[in-house]
Amino acid sequence: MRYHVDTGLIIQKFKENSECPLCAIQSIVEEQFLHEFLNDAVMEDSTREKVNKYGFCSAHFDKLFFRPNKLSVALQIQTRTDYINKFLTPVKNSSGAKKQAQALDKLSSTCIICNYTKDSMEKYYKTVAQLFSREAEFIKLLMTSKGFCMHHYAELLKYTAYAGGIKNDYAEALYNVQKKNFTRIKEEIDVFCSKHDYRNAKMPLGSAQTALPRMREKLYGKKDD
Ligand SMILES: [Zn+2]
Ligand SMILES: [Zn+2]
Repeated sequence: MRYHVDTGLIIQKFKENSECPLCAIQSIVEEQFLHEFLNDAVMEDSTREKVNKYGFCSAHFDKLFFRPNKLSVALQIQTRTDYINKFLTPVKNSSGAKKQAQALDKLSSTCIICNYTKDSMEKYYKTVAQLFSREAEFIKLLMTSKGFCMHHYAELLKYTAYAGGIKNDYAEALYNVQKKNFTRIKEEIDVFCSKHDYRNAKMPLGSAQTALPRMREKLYGKKDD
């Protein structure tokens, strides 16, 4: 699987000025992996072994299923099912039942596409930090952005050390942009709520009209289209 980090994509998505440029990048990264898992590359033994071991989460199963190449999905699920079947061993007593439950929970909580996406995104978090340390233009771009969803803000915070000599400035810049923009939407939610007081019936809603879906994006990340 490819792990190519595209700095041009980072600049492009920051320039689009959405509520979270990392959500936009993640959706493209994920799309590349979905494409690969529906193509011949996944027939390679090493990849098939990983598919058998980790499987797909329900969201990625659905995303693969709703595309045209159903045979490719079926072939992967066929051998993944064989793998899971080995874990369905006879349960003869209560302590054995508990042990099997733990094993099955573990088995069902993994996803090869989630793993690849996570690994690839880690490289993006590091590259954002490096861009900040290298390019004055990018500092401006980040500081005038609308911040990030909470998950991606936390991820960026984890990798601030990659900004090297200005890692503390970078950490502070991330905080400032996130605080400013979280407060921005919170204030729009305030306007939205006060509008529903009959005394404010004539008050114009303005951008507060879409405050709830935008706060949803800030809190949980961008919803899949
Ligand atoms: Zn995000
Ligand atoms: Zn997944």
